[in-house]
Amino acid sequence: MATSPLIATSLPQTQLATTATAGKSRLPPPEKLAVLIDKSKSVDELLQIHATILRHSLLLHPRYPVLNLKLHRAYASHGKIRHALDLFHHTIDPDLFIFTAAINTASINGLHDEAFLLYIQLLSSEIVPNEFTFSSILKSCSTDSVKAIHSHVLKFGLGLDPYVATGLVDVYAKGGYVISAQKVFDRMSERSLVSSTAMITCYAKQGNVDAARALFDRMCERDIVSWNVMIDGYAQHGFPSDALMLFQKLLAGGTPKPDEITVVATLSACSQIGALETGRWIHVFIKKNRIRLNVKVCTALIDMYSKCGSLEEASLVFNDTPRKDIVAWNAMIAGYALHGYSQDALKLFDEMQGITGLQPTDVTFIGTLQACAHGGLVNEGVRIFESMEQEYGIKPKIEHYGCLVSLLGRVGQLNRAYEIVKNMKIEADSVLWSSVLGSCKLHGDFVIGKEIAEYLIGQSINNSGIYVLLSNIYASAGDYEGVAKVRNLMKEKGIMKEPGVSTIEIDNKVHEFRAGDREHLESKEIYTMLRKMSERIKSHGYVPNINTVLQDLGETEKEQSLQVHSERLAIAYGLISTKPGSPLKIFKNLRVCSDCHTVTKLISKITGRKIIMRDRNRFHHFVDGSCSCGDFW
Ligand SMILES: [Zn+2]
Ligand SMILES: [Zn+2]
Repeated sequence: MATSPLIATSLPQTQLATTATAGKSRLPPPEKLAVLIDKSKSVDELLQIHATILRHSLLLHPRYPVLNLKLHRAYASHGKIRHALDLFHHTIDPDLFIFTAAINTASINGLHDEAFLLYIQLLSSEIVPNEFTFSSILKSCSTDSVKAIHSHVLKFGLGLDPYVATGLVDVYAKGGYVISAQKVFDRMSERSLVSSTAMITCYAKQGNVDAARALFDRMCERDIVSWNVMIDGYAQHGFPSDALMLFQKLLAGGTPKPDEITVVATLSACSQIGALETGRWIHVFIKKNRIRLNVKVCTALIDMYSKCGSLEEASLVFNDTPRKDIVAWNAMIAGYALHGYSQDALKLFDEMQGITGLQPTDVTFIGTLQACAHGGLVNEGVRIFESMEQEYGIKPKIEHYGCLVSLLGRVGQLNRAYEIVKNMKIEADSVLWSSVLGSCKLHGDFVIGKEIAEYLIGQSINNSGIYVLLSNIYASAGDYEGVAKVRNLMKEKGIMKEPGVSTIEIDNKVHEFRAGDREHLESKEIYTMLRKMSERIKSHGYVPNINTVLQDLGETEKEQSLQVHSERLAIAYGLISTKPGSPLKIFKNLRVCSDCHTVTKLISKITGRKIIMRDRNRFHHFVDGSCSCGDFW
């Protein structure tokens, strides 16, 4: 074996002032050396102590194995991983402690293969591993190797050890093996904070927020990590209101203090339900509590402000963001696109590459192409789409095709859009088809519309949105047999129409409405307002577009069912609970239907209010009788 610099005598010859000024004759007490190693503040200091130990032949002295172990740990903690591991490799007859320390060093520094080699070496040396050995090697385990290590754990009778069990739960949980994780977890007599948090993460990852919450509530102590996992679990799995409520509970308790991760998760919840006031409050909270406004937090704020309808505030945060990374640029580009500020989005796209030299990612292209689609910029859109693969080597994904098809559909190039979808290298999904169908409906092209409809019916799709569009296409073409066919298919397949839900935030509280909803406390006043608005818009020449109603109802009934669409209930509630003239912000989980779009335009004119509506696809700014989307969405 080549001589390691660590045991050769070529180490710095500077004398260690505190230990010895003379040569070998003055032997520093090994206990003192051990203390000095622990206290060493730099690698240089450590090297000097190491040299002294070598000079006195104490390093591999059978009476002082602790010096070797301490040196190993000290090198590792100073980040000198190779030094630490070389020291181990030169140890004659390593004992369990130095083995375990070396495995741990390799594991926590990502040298997983080396950790496993050391572990195998340990097993073949007939040393019996202990709980610390296992908790160390588990840090290197993948979902493939954990089963083997788990069986070793059982063989050595350590299955119930809290350290080992925590490690096992963590590996199983990270790999998504919820049943195995739970089995180990259930047998633990003492559940550590770490193992409970790992288990909550596992449930949350699977979207089983109820199980996660039940466990969270049972924990006797919680740190900020466990709170973060739970809040994020809600936010990422469609329970944004629960995420916000839990955040409030965290604040009410006083400890632990929220950190950057907490606010990022909470802001994501705000942006999902358009809770602008709450989002603003969190922004102030971040500043007051000196939570670091790093690029992640700033990006979450940009995303929240733009998705909650305040592009101005989003761009203010963007301008103040330190060391913007690609994710921050992407968020701002997407924000401009969402609000229909297409030119600003494209300008930012160029600026990003020009000023920072950052390379766009596939996400950047989604934002940029969306900007083109929302602005009807055909030439730019097609050019950017083609540049993706040719200039940047990024293969377009379904989302990019979606933007292109929506762009072509918007300007009426339906044949071209249809051809692209038919000839794509990847399979079209329901979103893409909805986009083409939506364009057919918009431009009244029922020939292509029906052709696609026939094709899709043959493909046995299960997306309720597509069926609704198909039915609308048939209805608009006056083909009621077609409508009946689609309806029967839906019945046969048990496809339910996804319920529309609209929300409006009034005084920091988010109010949720479903079609025909009478749950709200002020339901009576809301319906009175609806009737009043309905009379007024009719006097402005409004005729209900009953073609968009799927159910087979009589004309009056159809009109009534349109009247109680969730967005209208939300608008009506906004009208009765805010000052005249103040803007309204509505959020809808589905696309706004064309009838509600017409009605909202009229309401904005009659009431003189600005109405901002975010639907599944984009923002609509209704001002004085017209909408920023130019009636295309
Ligand atoms: Zn509607
Ligand atoms: Zn619109």
